Amino acid sequence: MQGRKILITGGTGQVARPVAEALAPDNEVWCLGRFGDRTAREELEERGARTFTWDMDSGDLDGLPRDFTHVLHSAVYRGESGDFDGTVRVNSVGTARLMTHCATAEAFLYVSSGVVYDRADPTHRYRESDPLGVGAPWLPTYPVAKLAAEGVVRGLAEALALPTVIARLNIAYGPYGHGGVPMIMFREMLRGQPCAVPREGQNYCNPVHTDDIVRQVPLLWEAARTRARVVNWGGDEEVGMTDLLEYMSALTGVPVTLDRGDRSRGTAMFDHTLRRDLIGDCSVGWKEGIARTLAELFEEYRDRIDVADVPGAPVVPVVPDVSDMPVATQRSV
Ligand code: NDP
Repeated sequence: MQGRKILITGGTGQVARPVAEALAPDNEVWCLGRFGDRTAREELEERGARTFTWDMDSGDLDGLPRDFTHVLHSAVYRGESGDFDGTVRVNSVGTARLMTHCATAEAFLYVSSGVVYDRADPTHRYRESDPLGVGAPWLPTYPVAKLAAEGVVRGLAEALALPTVIARLNIAYGPYGHGGVPMIMFREMLRGQPCAVPREGQNYCNPVHTDDIVRQVPLLWEAARTRARVVNWGGDEEVGMTDLLEYMSALTGVPVTLDRGDRSRGTAMFDHTLRRDLIGDCSVGWKEGIARTLAELFEEYRDRIDVADVPGAPVVPVVPDVSDMPVATQRSV
């Protein structure tokens, strides 16, 4: 993808930062955010991205160009304060202002989450048409925020004739930001804290490495339609979270203690039929990806992680080259 004018929110975050860094050399990339992490801002600028201070809460976009060709809206306020009303307002109003501002774009990608599905049996593979719900005891405001924003996105896509895709992301991980849920749990292991898992069985998910996310964002833009397309966005493999914890323990030698109970972070397995039709398969296997991510984020374990045991895994991850990625088509319904 080259020569396009791209707006990215959440560019300091785990998911969108590698996308911004990969696209910046060959495109005009603008990252919007509050930039409490000033180092992240400086590093984005060093990579060639422009930065613009924007708080979804206050929403002022004055002074920001309008002629973006592509938008990746990845910023989220998950509502950690427990304020449902404020969480819905910040995410919905911020999203509405952004879409209105970029109404002439060729493609708008909203990063949603599998958390929007009504929880079913842990072995259920959720389809895009499955019942939606707001059951996330570990962060009850989060699915409410995502569902509310999805509604805004669908409404404005049609009202503005703005080609849009809503990608419901599974568990993303990689060597940026917090590293994703697996790395958050590895930090618990390092602190000697027990990791919450279900009382019986285990949670399953489709972890997706940020290398695949970087490669697939331009493909998702291609899939945007004015009747917003909704697609599950996860890795190809189905992985048990307990298996993943034990794999990280085996790789690093850091012991894992399982806390079996009712407060584990729910995950979901996706039906991939639509995603495969639209953007194809993933390229990073979960064992390779987890090994690479641990080695990149936790230098002290780099020597111990025997990449020879992990097929095809270079220790230092490479930001995928997206310069030959297709350019999203002109506005299409
Ligand atoms: P992070 O928690 O890593 O980053 C959140 C981002 O949102 C930051 O860049 C932050 O920028 C921005 N942000 C937060 N509040 C505001 C605000 N008030 N105004 C403007 N920007 C704000 O998020 P992730 O990268 O993990 O997640 C990205 C997206 O993917 C989210 O929409 C999330 O719901 C979704 N998702 C993520 C998954 C994952 O596994 N990581 C799984 C499923 C869905 P700054 O602080 O600079 O303002």
